[in-house]
Amino acid sequence: MARKPMMAGNWKMNNTVGEAVVLTQEISNQYDKEWPEALDIVICPPFVDLKPAKTVLDFDRTKIAVGAQNVYWEPKGAFTGEVSVPMIKEIGCACSIVGHSERRELFGETNEDVNRKVKALVGAGLYAIVCVGESLAVREEGATEKYVTAQVRAAFAGVDARDAARCVVAYEPIWAIGTGRTATPEQAQAVCAAVRATLAELFGAETAESMRVLYGGSMNPGNVEGLMAQPDIDGGLVGGASLKAESFVQLVEACR
Ligand code: PGA
Repeated sequence: MARKPMMAGNWKMNNTVGEAVVLTQEISNQYDKEWPEALDIVICPPFVDLKPAKTVLDFDRTKIAVGAQNVYWEPKGAFTGEVSVPMIKEIGCACSIVGHSERRELFGETNEDVNRKVKALVGAGLYAIVCVGESLAVREEGATEKYVTAQVRAAFAGVDARDAARCVVAYEPIWAIGTGRTATPEQAQAVCAAVRATLAELFGAETAESMRVLYGGSMNPGNVEGLMAQPDIDGGLVGGASLKAESFVQLVEACR
């Protein structure tokens, strides 16, 4: 089954509302009417930028979606500082990134938290971009596939195949994020194939074949083609190179 590629930009904690309007305007100025057929494009800005980004990107026209970078699993209540799924849904978010390694490492997000967030998103009709990936220490121990596939199993525990099918997995080796050190296409392919095999065990071969598995970690216009040539890599989750319209559009073009 041919999977539609996806290019997702993760702005992390960058861009004020004013800057977000400029960057999304620059991206939509380069909009090509063939993009919606060729690939899915998602931009994940900070919470405060979601609504203005959504307005500028004009999903009805461009089909460029916006997603959050994180979300809390309870719908509302006394959770100071958190943002819920109904809140991002109402402003038109399609999805949220879940379990990014920065959230796991800096904010103590556990596999159980990731699972709760995935369930809250799919329960509300949105989807999750579930991030998995190993540290350098895990890679050097030779335990990468075991570690990453355990993250996949934990993230999707109790999720049914129909809901999982809408989700996306992003394999992001921690040692490659923001370091300029990309995984080789072969390294990335090996882990993405292991991710897909795990999805097949969990949800059946047909669902696994339909799900997008992205690579993330210093993806840029210079290395995207080699990565995209791999059979189990269906696109990218991109940080640094999504912060400039020129490089993001180059990645979009390389992905279609
Ligand atoms: P990077 O970040 O492209 O800047 O390495 C990717 C990510 O963390 O999603």
